[in-house]
Amino acid sequence: MAEQSREIYTQHLSIPNLSDAAKEVLHRQLMSKYYMIMGEGSVFLLLMIIGIAQVRKAFRRESEFLARQKTFLHSVTHEFKSPVASLRLQIETLLKRNLSTEQQQLALGNALEDTDRLDQLLEKILVAARIDNGEVPIYTERLNLSESLKNGVNKLLRTYPHRDIIEHIEEGVYAQMDPWAFNSVVNNLVENALIYSPKDKPVEVSLKKEGNKTVLLVHDQGPGIPMDERKKIFQKFYRMSTSTGYKGTGLGLYLVEYFVKKHNGTIIVKENTPSGSIFEVTLETI
Ligand code: ADP
Repeated sequence: MAEQSREIYTQHLSIPNLSDAAKEVLHRQLMSKYYMIMGEGSVFLLLMIIGIAQVRKAFRRESEFLARQKTFLHSVTHEFKSPVASLRLQIETLLKRNLSTEQQQLALGNALEDTDRLDQLLEKILVAARIDNGEVPIYTERLNLSESLKNGVNKLLRTYPHRDIIEHIEEGVYAQMDPWAFNSVVNNLVENALIYSPKDKPVEVSLKKEGNKTVLLVHDQGPGIPMDERKKIFQKFYRMSTSTGYKGTGLGLYLVEYFVKKHNGTIIVKENTPSGSIFEVTLETI
């Protein structure tokens, strides 16, 4: 099209006695055609570049997800194997007839802990699968968060009896929440704080009202979470490369964020001083 216009322009220029004004008009028309074609071409090129970038981004996201899923299968198999092996050991111990009552009690207690671990693991996987299918019902009620939090911390202290959890829990803090979901939020956040920080360092849990908001904070003195990982850790199956030494599925924080958002709340990660992280959940108080 540009070529045709140029040809017509050249032919017109060769017309004898063509005035300068007419030449000028012809030149302007040709230039405006050029600009139109260049403009259309640039828009088309820009759209193509944006399209390619989007496809590349989607492809990269999909491959990262597949890689995380692969790692998940690997770590989940490990997570299942150890309580099953331990359970087997407890049963074998119990089958020995000459055990004292205390020894029997100890083996039964350990076996119960193993079944609890298996149960929690299965629960996480099941809930994550239900979220994908949009099948997780939320039944909210006027929940006493102070009481629920204390119960959650006590339960974790039974699993981690040698750890120190410092509580700053304001009395009588209520929110419209699903008790089971709140329990899952507390359990995942506090257990992570215990797992990812040194055994001799305490974990701090606090609950307080701030205006019409309720703030739940979980502090630990572990290595902390780098800035560029603070969003990624909430993705399904995501585990930081530094966490390979710890057991885990990469599902805990995915569930936490899901439940917090379902209750119109927010969750952020901040830096603790001198080291560690602070998970801050904000909910609406009632
Ligand atoms: P999991 O703990 O089963 O791996 P989560 O979804 O609970 O899965 O956590 C995702 C990742 O976030 C963990 O693998 C770990 O790398 C990181 N993480 C979570 N909590 C903490 C914490 N308190 N301190 C340091 N890293 C953490």
